[in-house]
Amino acid sequence: MSDVEKADAAAAAEDVSLSDSTTAHTPAAPPPQEAEAPAFQYEFAGHCPCCDTDQLFRAYSEWFRDSLVCWNCMSTVRERAVALVMNETLPNWRHLAIHQSSPSERGISLRLRECAPNYISSQYYPDQPLGENIGGYRNEDLENQTFGDCVFDLVVTLDVMEHVFHPEKAYSEVYRTLKPGGYYIHTFPIQKWRAEAAACTARLTPDGQVEHLIETPEYHGNPISDKGSLVTFYYGYDISKQIAEWAPFDVRIIRFWDQYHGVIGEYTDVTVCRKPLI
Ligand SMILES: [Zn+2]
Repeated sequence: MSDVEKADAAAAAEDVSLSDSTTAHTPAAPPPQEAEAPAFQYEFAGHCPCCDTDQLFRAYSEWFRDSLVCWNCMSTVRERAVALVMNETLPNWRHLAIHQSSPSERGISLRLRECAPNYISSQYYPDQPLGENIGGYRNEDLENQTFGDCVFDLVVTLDVMEHVFHPEKAYSEVYRTLKPGGYYIHTFPIQKWRAEAAACTARLTPDGQVEHLIETPEYHGNPISDKGSLVTFYYGYDISKQIAEWAPFDVRIIRFWDQYHGVIGEYTDVTVCRKPLI
């Protein structure tokens, strides 16, 4: 239950106890406890590019990247950043062939699913046959996809690239599946203090075991696994050139401080890769 829901529930409880106390011969109820004020609260009324309506953005933590949500569609900062870039780059996205890998079912993913008839979403279930439909998702390994060449106008991922073991394969595969002129619009954390393009934090050994290269392995939330997703790479400032070396994209990285659209805080970068027309 959110702090706001807790506050509402506490207010309702107060109303009940007050009405009870007016009944004759009923022992006086103990004084209602005041709802606990959240330690931190941020609110801003703006426009959500995911649900395309004027909405309240609200956070109960200073870590806006995960906590600053649209109170209507529950989109997060990176989802709104991708929606902004997508709207500006491909305003006709509703009519395009779109692949999203590893979506969370909220915000931008729901918007794509509802509005773009040629949207397909995939998750990766390593123990299941690739290309099959599993629970409403196509089973795809981003590094080894079963899609044909040049089939998508747009590929979208949000915070996936820091979890792949071979980003060069993933970028090459996204490139292969895009039509000429197609876009790969995606997010992943780019550490502002790190100059090097990519630092491997975990790798696969030849026999398929995970070898950790940092003392404390890092995991992020995973919509299809309670174990979370292992972070395999830290990325830094030079990643744009590195991506172009992995796959011959034209690369731009866009960074925000956009309060009106609820895109503020750390790691707002959206990386836009375009497959050249020829
Ligand atoms: Zn929204």
